Amino acid sequence: MLRTRMFMLCLTTVMATTVFAVEWKSGILWERPPVVEGKMPVLTPPPAGAVVLFDGKDMSQFDNGEKWIVKDGVVTADKTSVSTKQPFGSCRMHIEFATPAEVVSQGQGRGNSGVIFMGEYELQILDSYQNDTYFDGQCGSIYKQNPPMRNVCRKPGEWQSYDITFVAPKFDDKGNLVRPARMTAYQNGELIQNNFEIKGHTFWHMAPTYTAHPAKKPLLLQYHGNPIQFRNIWLEEIED
Ligand code: MG
Repeated sequence: MLRTRMFMLCLTTVMATTVFAVEWKSGILWERPPVVEGKMPVLTPPPAGAVVLFDGKDMSQFDNGEKWIVKDGVVTADKTSVSTKQPFGSCRMHIEFATPAEVVSQGQGRGNSGVIFMGEYELQILDSYQNDTYFDGQCGSIYKQNPPMRNVCRKPGEWQSYDITFVAPKFDDKGNLVRPARMTAYQNGELIQNNFEIKGHTFWHMAPTYTAHPAKKPLLLQYHGNPIQFRNIWLEEIED
């Protein structure tokens, strides 16, 4: 009996101290976004006054930027995510990316990265060229919240572009949400997110909720184990 009690006590302790991460699913049955042949990316140079985050030379604008590999004007994700040294709120952003030409996995394991505004709100980057995954997790989705309007992914290894307008959320001084974040995004010049009202952070394991945070926070580029390439990254802060 004593032995049984000891076992139960140990088991309870283990259960209480172990965190099991379980995937959260919205339960929404999305329709498959139509596949549209991906056009050439939009290669917009930074406008006057823009904050250039990567111009092909170095990743000095990012914490951990030295861990990514810069070569021939292109940076390749490696080892860890990077976040801007400067915090940002509402902004217009341009970024060009290429998922690996060599396909080595499938689903979420194939060409995964992401642009995570304020370190909270992710516009997914994934190789969704003939690669099925859940629709609200495919390339161009606001992760776990909204699929892209269309799948305009180009082939693995081909350059693509995102042009994004992100409007930051606002909180009152008690931490209550007074204005949710919003996002409009174009991939290779095609509209994929139309002024979507973001429901909160975009975690894998939790339903989206808002947690009050400063008006400006670093922007994060995700490392998810895949060597995604990037070039021509800039943003422009906007009045909101
Ligand atoms: Mg991602």
